[in-house]
Amino acid sequence: MIQHLSGQGKKTAGIVLRDARELALMREAGRIVAKVHEAMRQAVRPGVSTAELDAIAEDVIRSHDAVPTFLGYRGFPATICTSINDEIVHGIPSPRRFLKEGDIISIDVGATYHGWVGDSAWTYPVGEISQDAQALLEATEGALWAGIEQARSGNRLGDISAAIQAYVESRGFAIIREYGGHGVGRQMHEPPRILNYGRSGTGMRLRPGMTFALEPMVAAGHWLTNVDADGWTVRTQDGSLSAHFEHTLAVTDGDPMIMTIL
Ligand code: MG
Ligand code: MG
Repeated sequence: MIQHLSGQGKKTAGIVLRDARELALMREAGRIVAKVHEAMRQAVRPGVSTAELDAIAEDVIRSHDAVPTFLGYRGFPATICTSINDEIVHGIPSPRRFLKEGDIISIDVGATYHGWVGDSAWTYPVGEISQDAQALLEATEGALWAGIEQARSGNRLGDISAAIQAYVESRGFAIIREYGGHGVGRQMHEPPRILNYGRSGTGMRLRPGMTFALEPMVAAGHWLTNVDADGWTVRTQDGSLSAHFEHTLAVTDGDPMIMTIL
């Protein structure tokens, strides 16, 4: 994925530190992303197509004076990524792909507002799901919150990675290794790469004004992945279920500032 910086803010360890005005704009971008997820939560049900979900998401973004960040990104053809069951990330919405009772669907979406990006993913149950699927969702969302809790000034990047990994593995699930979180701001993908596994006390020191997207991706089975012939859809090699939760946030002097909530 593209990893380059733009804009001229203050930097530390090569990472741009955003000021209060910039964080306020990122918060607006994030709020729009959260509104998309609110709409997705209501629209996800058996029988809906992933293309219908995509159209709803695009409407929400454009009606808030924002632009779908994913659309056209490295040629991606849609506003959202829709990844069902053993699909982990980057699934492409289709008018021929319908949700079924018992599926889980991960929806990832970005919105760019006045040049600032919000990026967030959530995995939704379709109707009633199995207890195993429910446990996977809870482990993955819990890992996201465990990572966010570590996103504090003075901590190190590895503290986030280690917290996410420990949360997931203690529940018997596997962290996807080949994809991870990232810096976010003017671009969807900026430095640093944020691994979802690692050692606490290692890596870059966190400072107020750093803006990250944390996004654990978790498999119920093994973490090895394949990419489909479409060049996008990533799925587990062993066919096991996968979940994905993501928020955009800023490190502050106090608690992390979560951008992608209402
Ligand atoms: Mg995302
Ligand atoms: Mg992301």
